[in-house]
Amino acid sequence: MDRLLVVGAGPKAMAVAAKAYVLRELGLPAPRVTVVEPNAVGGNWLPTGGWTDGRHRLGTSPEKDIGFPYRSTWARGHGPAVDQAMMTFGWTAFLVDRGTYAEWVDRGRPSPEHALWAKYLQWVARRSGVEMIHGRVRSIRAAGACWQVTIAGAEGATVEIGADRLMITGPGSSKRSLDDHPKLLSIADFWDLAGRRQLPVSSRAAVIGGGETAGSAMDELVRHDVLTVSVISPAATIYTRGESYFENSLFSDPVKWRALSIAERRDVVRRTDRGVFSVRVQETLLADNRVHHLQGRVVRVAEEGDGVALTLRNEARPDRTHTFDLVVDATGGQPLWFLDLFDEEAVDLFELAVGGPLTQARIEGSIGDDLAVDRLPAKLYLPNMAGLAQGPGFPNLSCLGELSDRILASAPAAPVVSGASVAVSALPERVASH
Ligand SMILES: Cc1cc2nc3c(=O)[nH]c(=O)nc-3n(C[C@H](O)[C@H](O)[C@H](O)COP(=O)(O)OP(=O)(O)OC[C@H]3O[C@@H](n4cnc5c(N)ncnc54)[C@H](O)[C@@H]3O)c2cc1C
Repeated sequence: MDRLLVVGAGPKAMAVAAKAYVLRELGLPAPRVTVVEPNAVGGNWLPTGGWTDGRHRLGTSPEKDIGFPYRSTWARGHGPAVDQAMMTFGWTAFLVDRGTYAEWVDRGRPSPEHALWAKYLQWVARRSGVEMIHGRVRSIRAAGACWQVTIAGAEGATVEIGADRLMITGPGSSKRSLDDHPKLLSIADFWDLAGRRQLPVSSRAAVIGGGETAGSAMDELVRHDVLTVSVISPAATIYTRGESYFENSLFSDPVKWRALSIAERRDVVRRTDRGVFSVRVQETLLADNRVHHLQGRVVRVAEEGDGVALTLRNEARPDRTHTFDLVVDATGGQPLWFLDLFDEEAVDLFELAVGGPLTQARIEGSIGDDLAVDRLPAKLYLPNMAGLAQGPGFPNLSCLGELSDRILASAPAAPVVSGASVAVSALPERVASH
């Protein structure tokens, strides 16, 4: 049977699970979806995931739910039926089910707190009956046109599962920080201390990073006893996501994306996605005269008395050092975190597919229309890396319905690449012998 294994039970996993359920219900082909998750469903939206305390609000509208934009035109003749069935998994259906729909409308359709978003995802998991495995993916190896995935359960016992297709989600670990220093907190440490009301009192605090992770951390820090809070990012300013129709439509409808040059695509991402705080976070911070922006890339972390000294680098200026008594590393996820899971042979195959060592740029450039890496023998879907090649909404919550369409409309095995014999002869011996 065609099995699609998903690493991580976040919104992307739920979008694919619900769409596969709907396709099956309509008698259309769909893979069996199995989701592996060490935490709860929606774990990264709960305090235990280390990315939030669960009480901060979603930056985007919850109506951009797991079916959005409800345009399954690829399912020829069945598109409207698929979209109608997907509406029963939508955000408003969830609220109706909870009996809170009218209240939500009357309150002006607020963005939900992260913990409620996790509850929505859990509701989708229950309704779709998706197969869940409670455990953490530890390693992945290639076996012909399949993947073999080793999963460690809570008690440490491991199990190996075969999958025809594999999808990786999530940002990696929240426990990483730039340096091991007691005054430099990882984002997980920060939320843990904030949740226990044990954040150290500080006069000069700093948050490194300019994205959603940093935005939520800033939003929390300003509620604590601090004299100044500096947000440090390489860009000249912190941009606000405009949320205009023109910007949003590029996220919801990736078709237009293809027509843009790479330089134009990078420009859109820079202005709308990276180094951008949501309008609501920006409004809170702008009104607070303790908040400042420092431009630069942190290149050195050093002990300085009771505090920590950060050296900031800017291309046109000499390095500058600033001292803080509390620093939060909110630089966010590591895009290539999942590479550590692949064994050597799988890495060799991956390198062959992308044409060289596994860099972010090379992988981003190799993501095809189905959000999988081109030229791998078995499908490896990497929606988090699909922004540049396929559309800026695929790594986030902007077009989860389109994401599931692209993946489920594709065939389980990668087409045989012309010139494969040349490629195989170029493989290192260890792989070529298989
Ligand atoms: C604070 C914050 C706020 C955000 N707000 C928004 C927003 O409002 N709008 C928006 O579009 N985007 C937002 N984002 C970006 C957001 O990360 C993505 O949009 C979205 O969550 C990604 O969904 P996902 O399914 O890829 O992963 P996630 O929701 O991150 O889920 C990944 C899952 O993988 C699990 N996992 C990790 N390692 C393993 C392993 N080895 N084996 C098995 N499972 C594993 C984790 O436990 C987690 O549950 C926000 C990000 C942060 C940090």
